Amino acid sequence: MQHLFQKLIGLDQNLLMLILIVVFYTIEQLFNKPFEFRKRTFHFVNGIPLQVGYMAVNYVLAFVLVAWVQWIKTHHFGLLYQIQIRYAAKVILGFLAIDFTFYWAHRVYHTWALPWRLHRVHHSDTSVDTATFFRFHPFDAIMDNITFMIAVAIFGIDFNILLLFFLVNLIFTIAQHSKFAFPAWTDSIFGIIFMTPNLHKVHHHQNQFYTDSNFGLTFIFWDKIFRTYNYLPVNKIQYGLEEFDDKKKQTSWYLLKSPFLNIKRVTKHDDDKTHLTVVKSEMVKGNQVDY
Ligand SMILES: [Zn+2]
Ligand SMILES: [Zn+2]
Repeated sequence: MQHLFQKLIGLDQNLLMLILIVVFYTIEQLFNKPFEFRKRTFHFVNGIPLQVGYMAVNYVLAFVLVAWVQWIKTHHFGLLYQIQIRYAAKVILGFLAIDFTFYWAHRVYHTWALPWRLHRVHHSDTSVDTATFFRFHPFDAIMDNITFMIAVAIFGIDFNILLLFFLVNLIFTIAQHSKFAFPAWTDSIFGIIFMTPNLHKVHHHQNQFYTDSNFGLTFIFWDKIFRTYNYLPVNKIQYGLEEFDDKKKQTSWYLLKSPFLNIKRVTKHDDDKTHLTVVKSEMVKGNQVDY
């Protein structure tokens, strides 16, 4: 078991990322008709400058994160260094703790004006597919690394747990954005615990009522516990943000500079809000609602 764990965290995650993107991007193309070659190629290539920027910032910050993890370990700082339990239990608890921290950080990204300026780049995508994995502003890496540092300091996360989280999160993030028609039963079974692709796509709906829900990265139960869970069939989801609908606002150059522009967030009219409140209360009661 320990041997398997060491093998898992020792995987070359850059190579794995490349393989997953190629496999998912190719297979989703075969399942989706019509063959929109030009549109998809633009979408894919357009995301590359963002991803290169994200990886560059992440690479620099990795040195800070590594030094931070080492310092925490040396000083036995953080909860997991204080308790005497089996290492396997520490791995599970540590993994949950990182995901829990990201759940709250993700809520902050949506609530506070400055983080939202960076995070909205990911949400501005009007056609979610595997290439949406690329769609993060380079400075988003700063927020993500701060979140990791907070989790490491509070919970006493070590390198192995961190590497395991990176690995699982890589697989989840690519799968969550892939454009497959995952059947509803995948949500009924896996959606009890995990943030399935269909559930994450609800988070990409244009309407803020849904954008501000399903914040979890790996697990959905944080949203259920803290009442931010929402469900909507994928064929009812309209991706993107209204304020980024214009084609000119989908280019990588515009997205790179967008955090420095004052772009007013478009929210739905009061009529829609009232309607959605009714829908939500009916859903809570377990009634079937026509959207
Ligand atoms: Zn988000
Ligand atoms: Zn996403």
